[in-house]
Amino acid sequence: MEIDCEGCAGCCLDWRALAPDDADHGHERRGRYRPLDDVDNLAPVSSDEVRTFLDEGLGGALVARLFRIDDGPSVTVGGVEVAAVRGRPAFLVGLRKVPKPVAPFGAEPRWLPSCAFLDPETLQCRIHGGEVYPGTCSTYPGDNLALDAETECERVERVHGGERLIDDEPPADADPVLGPGAVGGRVFAHPEADRVEGAVERLAAGEATRADHAEFVAVAAASAPGTLAVSDERYERARERALDAESWVDGAVAEWAERAGTDEPDPATARTVEGERGAPGTPGWDD
Ligand code: SF4
Ligand code: SF4
Repeated sequence: MEIDCEGCAGCCLDWRALAPDDADHGHERRGRYRPLDDVDNLAPVSSDEVRTFLDEGLGGALVARLFRIDDGPSVTVGGVEVAAVRGRPAFLVGLRKVPKPVAPFGAEPRWLPSCAFLDPETLQCRIHGGEVYPGTCSTYPGDNLALDAETECERVERVHGGERLIDDEPPADADPVLGPGAVGGRVFAHPEADRVEGAVERLAAGEATRADHAEFVAVAAASAPGTLAVSDERYERARERALDAESWVDGAVAEWAERAGTDEPDPATARTVEGERGAPGTPGWDD
């Protein structure tokens, strides 16, 4: 596998606005499972990774995703029918996206939903190779290649030209997480549907709060691969940490959201909005 990521960040962005005619974009919204939220390219994380993010005070970067399902196990929560695992609402935890001023694929700068950790100026990942760098990002698009599923790199090539996926041989250690081990490891189930009625309603309306996400994040942190069991003690501790966490991400997310409504998009503003808050730097492409 060999990819050319310079000036791309396609898999870290929701760039549907740059491909209004691409029938295959918004791919997460087709098939049996349809996300309740309207954000493309969620980077999902495992229960271990959720705990590491919480340890690092980065709970504000995590969000929950639930699904509607056609023709499959479901449960009605807060008036919304959502996909279920053994009667419990099923969900993923992934990395938050926030509008940032980015100029991918040589386009003019514009506001696009971008991963909390993407430096809009260099279009590089601020946590690349670090303690919290998620497996889903470090191996991308290896699992897609192993499953013979289209990669985001190929989508970028199709819509914006250029060569992104240079060698499409799947890495020898590609190990798509499917099957029973995924439950509790990457796919979670909330043990008490009654407790999340309001949260599910707000997720479906695009109005979920930090506390709503924290509730699911804490269940994910208290889960273990291969089981639906959730440790109460771990849940309580994780929920507190998810709610109390404060890092450069929180201030930056709030400022980006505010600026997106008023400012011209300028990727260099990341130096103040993220850099001055303590966001880790990126090497730039020259290095
Ligand atoms: S963590 Fe880094 S590589 Fe992963 S989606 Fe976010 S910016 Fe992209
Ligand atoms: S879409 Fe592919 S080429 Fe573009 S940044 Fe992601 S992995 Fe790299």
